[in-house]
Amino acid sequence: MAWTPTAEDDRRFLALAIEQARTSWDEGGVPIGAVLVHDGQVLGAGHNQRVQKDSAILHGETDAIEKAGRLRASVYRESVLYTTLSPCIMCSGTALLYEIPRIVVGENRTFEMAEDLLRERGVTVDVLDDPDCIALMERMIAERPEIWSEDIGVETGELSASADGARAAGAEGSDVDGAGR
Ligand SMILES: [Zn+2]
Repeated sequence: MAWTPTAEDDRRFLALAIEQARTSWDEGGVPIGAVLVHDGQVLGAGHNQRVQKDSAILHGETDAIEKAGRLRASVYRESVLYTTLSPCIMCSGTALLYEIPRIVVGENRTFEMAEDLLRERGVTVDVLDDPDCIALMERMIAERPEIWSEDIGVETGELSASADGARAAGAEGSDVDGAGR
């Protein structure tokens, strides 16, 4: 790949994804945003459109990829997808189809579903554990749990079980006891 993003680039593009997530929250939607970047240029920026467009498939990542429009295979294969939250299986599938080689994730404490699959298929997944991204999702889960559960295909009553699962998975790493959450 001609362009190798620095840690500063990663922060800058994640900040654009966070901007998208905040816009979505302000619109009454799910606060997850993403940008697709090629050679230092943003090709598409998007956010979850469940509420705004009554969409079942436009998550932050798929919206960003959709906004980028039609691209050659060689462009996807040199692109980086920045997303505020660890991607679901649908968005991971889209990234795998187009062979996007690297995904930078804002956080995976509140949700994590497909990182193993991505890594098994050779995708580099870098998790920045960003406090702003965590705060956005914690507020979402606390204040709009019915929309969040709908977004990830579970009933609201099943949310705490899956959140515990995500926390348990996270706890295998360097996580603390979760008392702050
Ligand atoms: Zn998704």
